[in-house]
Amino acid sequence: NKQVILKNYVTGYPKESDMEIKNVTIKLKVPEGSNDVVVKNLYLSCDPYMRSRMRKIEGSYVESFAPGSPITGYGVAKVLESGDPKFQKGDLVWGMTGWEEYSIITPTQTLFKIHDKDVPLSYYTGILGMPGMTAYAGFHEVCSPKKGETVFVSAASGAVGQLVGQFAKMLGCYVVGSAGSKEKVDLLKSKFGFDEAFNYKEEQDLSAALKRYFPDGIDIYFENVGGKMLDAVLVNMKLYGRIAVCGMISQYNLEQTEGVHNLFCLITKRIRMEGFLVFDYYHLYPKYLEMVIPQIKAGKVVYVEDVAHGLESAPTALVGLFSGRNIGKQVVMVSRE
Ligand code: NDP
Repeated sequence: NKQVILKNYVTGYPKESDMEIKNVTIKLKVPEGSNDVVVKNLYLSCDPYMRSRMRKIEGSYVESFAPGSPITGYGVAKVLESGDPKFQKGDLVWGMTGWEEYSIITPTQTLFKIHDKDVPLSYYTGILGMPGMTAYAGFHEVCSPKKGETVFVSAASGAVGQLVGQFAKMLGCYVVGSAGSKEKVDLLKSKFGFDEAFNYKEEQDLSAALKRYFPDGIDIYFENVGGKMLDAVLVNMKLYGRIAVCGMISQYNLEQTEGVHNLFCLITKRIRMEGFLVFDYYHLYPKYLEMVIPQIKAGKVVYVEDVAHGLESAPTALVGLFSGRNIGKQVVMVSRE
C-alpha cells in the first residue's frame, strides 16, 4: 500500500521534501465488530486548509496530521468491504480518507455515498464535494446576495472561487475576480463568465484597481486570500456591504500573520463581515446537488480541474496551491477505477 507520509511538522512554505512516499503492507479487512470501511482510493483532493494541519495545532476545528503517518484529506473512493450497513461493497463514496492506495476509514458525518455517476467522479472532490458546498453556502447563506449587486471574489479561478463567480452571475450580479496569472484571468472571463478580472500581482495599488472595476463600490466580497487584498477591499465596500470570510490563504505560511489596517470601515460603512466553515452547512448538501447537477449536465455551470496523475505526484500538487501553480481545482488521480 503506497502512502504519502508527512515527515515532520512544517514551518514556512511547505516543500515536497516535507513528505515522502512509503510502501507498507496493510491487512485489507474490516476489524472484527467495527463499522470501518475498507476503500480503494481513486481521487484525492488538495485543499489549502491542509496547510494548517501540517503544524501542531490545538483547539481548532481540525486536527494536526500525525508526523510519520499518511496525510488525510477529502477523496473519492470505492468500497471494498464495509462494517457499516450504510455502505456496501462496490459503492462509490466521498469523504475523509488517507493519502494512500487503500484505506480503512471510520465513517464520519462526511462520508457520503455517490449516487449520480453520470458526471466525472473527480467532481466529488470539487464542485460536487467540499469546495462546491463552500461556494454555495458561503455565497447564498453568508453573503445574503441580491440580484444586481456587485460582487468581488479573490483567488477566483480556484476550486471555490470559480463557482462563487458562476453562482453570482446566475443570480444576476456584476462579478469581478482576481487571480495570479494572465491565463487565470483569461479563464475567469472566457470560461466562467466573470464580467471583469485582473491579475493582482500586476497591480501596484490594489485599492485603485478595485476602484477601476467598482466605481460605486462593492456590495459583496467573497474573501479567499486575506492580507493586503482585504485591506484594499474594506475601503472599497459600499454601505451595508457583506464580507464572507471563507479563507485567507496569503497568511497560511507566515509565522507571523499580517495586520489588517482598515477594519474601522466595518463601522463607518455598517459592513457585516462573517467567517464560516463549510462543515456547518452539510445539511444543505442534498439541496445543493439537486440544483447543481442539472446545471452541470446542461453545461450552464462549468468546472475546471487540474489533475495530477499518480500518488507520487501528490506532494508537488499540494505544495503548488501556495504558489498558485494549480489552474482550477487541484486533484490527484490515484486510480481511475
Ligand atoms: P484554490 O483552488 O483557489 O487554490 C489556492 C489558490 O490560492 C492558488 O491557486 C493561488 O491562486 C491562490 N494563492 C496562493 N497563495 C496566495 C497568496 N499569497 N495571495 C493570494 N492568493 C494566493 O483553493 P480553494 O478554492 O480550495 O480555496 C480557496 C480559499 O477557500 C482558501 O483560502 C481556503 O482555505 C478556503 N476554504 C475555506 C473553507 C471553509 O469552510 N471556510 C472550505 C474550503 C476552502 P492565484 O494564482 O490566483 O494566486
